[in-house]
Amino acid sequence: MAPLPNGVPPAKNRIAVMTSGGDSPGMNGCVRAVVRKSLAQGCESYCIYEGYEGLVRGGDLIKQMRWEDVRGLLSEGGTSIGTARCKAFTERPGRLKAAKNMIDKGINALIICGGDGSLTGADTFRGEWPGLLEELVSSGEITPEQRNEFQHLNIVGLVGSIDNDFADTDATIGCYSSLARICESVDSIDATASSHQRAFVIEVMGRHCGWLALMAGVSTGADFIFIPENPPAQNWEDQMCGIIKKHREFGKRKTIVIVAEGAIDSELKQISPTQVKDLLSNRLKLDTRITTLGHVQRGGTPCAYDRQLSTLQGVEAVMAVLDATPETPSKFIAIIENKIIRSPLIEAVALTQEVAKAIAAKDFKRAMDLRGPEFAEYYNAYMTTTSTALPDLYLPKEKHMNIAIIHIGAPAGGMNSATRAAVAYCLSRGHTPIAIHNGFAGLVRHHGDEPIGSVREVKWLDVEGWISRGGSEIGTNRDLPSKVGMGETADCFSQYKIDALFIIGGFEAFTALSELRKARPDYPAFRIPMMLLPATISNNVPGTEYSIGSDTCLNALISYCDAIKQSAAASRRRIFVVETQGGRSGYVATMAALGIGATAVYTPEEGISIQMLARDIQHLRESFAKDQGQNRAGKLILCNEHASDTYTTEVISNMIRTESKGRFESRFAIPGHVQQGGTPSPMDRVRAVRLAVKCIQQIEGYAGKSKEEIMEDPLSMAVIGIKGAHVKFGGMERLEQEETNWKDRRPKNESWIRYKSIVDTLSGRPKAEDCCEGCGRLNR
Ligand code: ADP
Repeated sequence: MAPLPNGVPPAKNRIAVMTSGGDSPGMNGCVRAVVRKSLAQGCESYCIYEGYEGLVRGGDLIKQMRWEDVRGLLSEGGTSIGTARCKAFTERPGRLKAAKNMIDKGINALIICGGDGSLTGADTFRGEWPGLLEELVSSGEITPEQRNEFQHLNIVGLVGSIDNDFADTDATIGCYSSLARICESVDSIDATASSHQRAFVIEVMGRHCGWLALMAGVSTGADFIFIPENPPAQNWEDQMCGIIKKHREFGKRKTIVIVAEGAIDSELKQISPTQVKDLLSNRLKLDTRITTLGHVQRGGTPCAYDRQLSTLQGVEAVMAVLDATPETPSKFIAIIENKIIRSPLIEAVALTQEVAKAIAAKDFKRAMDLRGPEFAEYYNAYMTTTSTALPDLYLPKEKHMNIAIIHIGAPAGGMNSATRAAVAYCLSRGHTPIAIHNGFAGLVRHHGDEPIGSVREVKWLDVEGWISRGGSEIGTNRDLPSKVGMGETADCFSQYKIDALFIIGGFEAFTALSELRKARPDYPAFRIPMMLLPATISNNVPGTEYSIGSDTCLNALISYCDAIKQSAAASRRRIFVVETQGGRSGYVATMAALGIGATAVYTPEEGISIQMLARDIQHLRESFAKDQGQNRAGKLILCNEHASDTYTTEVISNMIRTESKGRFESRFAIPGHVQQGGTPSPMDRVRAVRLAVKCIQQIEGYAGKSKEEIMEDPLSMAVIGIKGAHVKFGGMERLEQEETNWKDRRPKNESWIRYKSIVDTLSGRPKAEDCCEGCGRLNR
């Protein structure tokens, strides 16, 4: 291969990554994933420091990266390669310099992590690329050979922004971390507000996008929110005061109003926090304070979800670069529900810019539509679960149902949030929400107890504060209907005139629902609609790729591992083997491993063999031997509690210590019930609200139907699930028969399994074929 005139050998993929625009937590995860995946694919990897500024200035700001250069980045907020706003790049001469700098380094692909401004710039750059090259040839700055070599610029976007304002994707990298910061602050403010019976007006970021304000409203149970896409009615002052007054009359001691920084009224006049505060103080005589959260919302360590998203999308971006042909239009990496996809960049940029235009034209319906169906669903869920006075929603009397709510199995973050949402939704529709306390055991044992039995109607104020509470307020229990008595359970259903059952729980709950389904022919009391909302830290319920509680668990586990990793790093030559929960599903271990950058992960699905351990120990030996003093990042292995009966966490740790021959140390750690998490994560809260409302809506569809009709409908007993890009109900019978691995208590096909190889790739873990059997030496 003849080198190009600048000395760079041609025909090699040199992939550069940069972060640009406003920083967001998770950008570092993108950089790490792109660098390591590029290297693993045999490409050269480069980082462009300081965003487009680095591209325009070139020189030292474009650096070739090695594997070790991105070690330990995952847990750091912001962006370690810097970001900037660069005026020069917005003009053609700046972009001409950028093109020259890229060609000088031989870079032919660019992955940009930034907001809509940065991605618009990227697309302009790609559009102009052939013209820029011609100009460089004319001025003699590059040769015609170089032009031919670099005639196609390959660009892929990753959306990094706390605002979540980009079209065609459900989440941008950083938005859930920002939401976590907001929720932590509002939860703290809640306590003082409640103590003093105060009102707080909280301003949150988001520019023209109301996503942060809306989600903060959903996940903290705020009394009122202001978002730019859907300004309040003309008489919003009366409307807001009416709702807050009503909440106070119900007995609520505090008031929280969330105002997006771009909040406006229907005449496009800004609504300021001061205006809202004055109203609450003067009209409602509430002791009111304003809190502007400001830049706190940008900072901090990325949450579990942003670590996963940035890693998975970074890997996908590299694959998109490698798959691209000259004809492929520029892509960006999106996520729809649970599915990571490549989407056309230009269309998404145009759609994103449409929102501001629609708002400016007072076309608010279009602004809401442009934000996508998920946004609208959250908005509706917020409205129906917060404002108790929406007369339009109230159903005619004959459609009212007695809807029982039960928690089954171990507690999981979001169980209370889902219960609160279900109760609030029921009340806004005229149904009677009934809580069954302490599961089926409680139902059967205490149903006749006086004065308080196990089955109680729930009032709005009972659940009002539950959105942010961990554990299970109504009590949860593992006992199945078959254990406490099928006949007794059916009698209770009849006695309390239960018209529908809303179950919140994990695999135990799934098993309970299966039993009730099979008992339907014998017990007419079970011929009612029953919906299961999967809630378990293990995320092992068939019919869904996501159970509420699993995100809370991952966040708890990741902060535990961050702390341990710091200790491992401080003592330099130490590896920790951390045991995770998760039943017989390796989900928690694998996703935590993705989020922490673990050296290896052991799962029940794959098991552990002696060869695997030998390889991993050899990898550790080599990696510790290479690490010089300055490389302080600690190492972790994650091991699911049921990965192997023989090689337990302690045994693995001991084996590593013995085999290290004194060159490094090994410890094991068991976080145990820490993994249930304390306060539910914002993601678990918002998804709990959305999915709970959907479940009750599904139940409502059966109002007035006969028991025979209900029996015949396979979806009358169903699990709500997020599957790929969709939220859907799966009928129990089909799920039981086709999708359940009953022996191992998990779904037959686990969607996350493919992520395990990403953990291995990004940690440089050797595969079986890399290892010389016998001596265990790695052939690399
Ligand atoms: P964000 O990417 O977070 O939306 P900005 O809008 O500030 O942030 O964009 C970041 C940088 O991207 C700008 O400083 C500029 O260098 C570049 N950029 C933005 N818009 C354009 C554009 N239309 N053409 C060229 N470059 C742009």
